[in-house]
Amino acid sequence: MGDIEVNVSFPLDDEGFFRRECPFCRKEFKVLLTKEELGTLAHEGIDSFMIAPQEEVSLDEDVQREVEYCCPYCGQGAPKDSWWTQEQLAYVNIFAQNIIASIVNESFLGPLKRNLGHQSSGPISISFKGREMEQQEPWISPEVNDMDGFDLPCCHRKIKIEDGKMSCIHCFFCGFTHERL
Ligand SMILES: [Zn+2]
Ligand SMILES: [Zn+2]
Repeated sequence: MGDIEVNVSFPLDDEGFFRRECPFCRKEFKVLLTKEELGTLAHEGIDSFMIAPQEEVSLDEDVQREVEYCCPYCGQGAPKDSWWTQEQLAYVNIFAQNIIASIVNESFLGPLKRNLGHQSSGPISISFKGREMEQQEPWISPEVNDMDGFDLPCCHRKIKIEDGKMSCIHCFFCGFTHERL
């Protein structure tokens, strides 16, 4: 069996921003990702489900190992696969489940059906009653155009944040603290 290619496309808002959620404070914000970053999202998402569940890695250990992004609100850092919103996780999970279903259907039920199919030409007919694992149609709500844009001059990137009274915003990409006027 070769590698399985899955194309998970995530909804973006009209300006191309992608929703993220902080694993610490659970607040949502959006980032404008490059084409390349968007392209790797699907793989990261699926991988995080397909890899055998690791022993519950505590976030603290993770942070020390590979902090890649910082929360704009609370400033805490976490690896890049820690920023899924609950809805994105549920959405990616459907793709992962479908992959598992197709693996089971193809590699187990498929050959079984074909073998039984040959035998049915004889005097004894065996019918196959195994049920295929069902595939679900992935669904995620379309992205809405909420939140306010915020420029990150440190990285020449843009994010969108919920308008709050925060006196400073941390750069998602480098963690730099920007005072808000
Ligand atoms: Zn946070
Ligand atoms: Zn930055």
